[in-house]
Amino acid sequence: MDLNRLSRVLFNKDQQKQRTNPDKILEEELKCPICLEVSRKPITTDCCGSVFCESCIKNIKANKCPKCNKQSFTYSQNIFANRLVNQFPIICKYGCGHVSGGSEIGNHEKQCPNKILKCKYCSFEGIYSSFLQHIINQHVNQIVQFFEKQE
Ligand SMILES: [Zn+2]
Ligand SMILES: [Zn+2]
Ligand SMILES: [Zn+2]
Ligand SMILES: [Zn+2]
Repeated sequence: MDLNRLSRVLFNKDQQKQRTNPDKILEEELKCPICLEVSRKPITTDCCGSVFCESCIKNIKANKCPKCNKQSFTYSQNIFANRLVNQFPIICKYGCGHVSGGSEIGNHEKQCPNKILKCKYCSFEGIYSSFLQHIINQHVNQIVQFFEKQE
């Protein structure tokens, strides 16, 4: 096989890959390098134009860009990426199987039935259904106090 033909074959192959999987490419572009998830609230660094979650970038200790190491970097809201993320299907992080767009999934996760809840009376942790059971079994007296009619 001559070199020209070989490169043509390889090139076409690459192009096909890109065409058949645009979602994958978009996902890579919107992925935050810190948490490796699609950024829920994407921002772009002004130094190198990298996309991060706003919460991840706020959490980093060193005041330098995690991608290009620029000192005292700044970032701004990325409205375009935000719009994309809101269209982009994200899977619920609690593994209930629910999928929805970026801002929607946040609302779902607040009340996802698979979310782990922490008991404020003891060290119990569990998903909603077992948590409810736990409260009924262990703490019903404490709860009832809140609802007792004051004489
Ligand atoms: Zn992140
Ligand atoms: Zn940078
Ligand atoms: Zn869920
Ligand atoms: Zn408890």
